[in-house]
Amino acid sequence: MTAEYPSATREIGMVILAIVALVVVYLMVTVTLAFGLFGAFVLVAFVYVWFFVWNADSGDLSGGQNCPSCGSRIGADEDVCEYCGESL
Ligand SMILES: [Zn+2]
Repeated sequence: MTAEYPSATREIGMVILAIVALVVVYLMVTVTLAFGLFGAFVLVAFVYVWFFVWNADSGDLSGGQNCPSCGSRIGADEDVCEYCGESL
């Protein structure tokens, strides 16, 4: 008897995503009630930037290089450092 769940990992990811979405919605409602729409906007912007930076850090560990000038982590196929403008 074999029971395979090829999509189990994806389903777990979807559950985590749903939980995160619920937490974000809950925080948005709470912040909106406490600080108004501007507070909610700031929270969304903060979460978005944090998520973007977190993905960039964890997703570009292979095939990258460090800028010889400023040491920032940049892509292997970059011609110019996006942080300090140094030619590579
Ligand atoms: Zn640089």
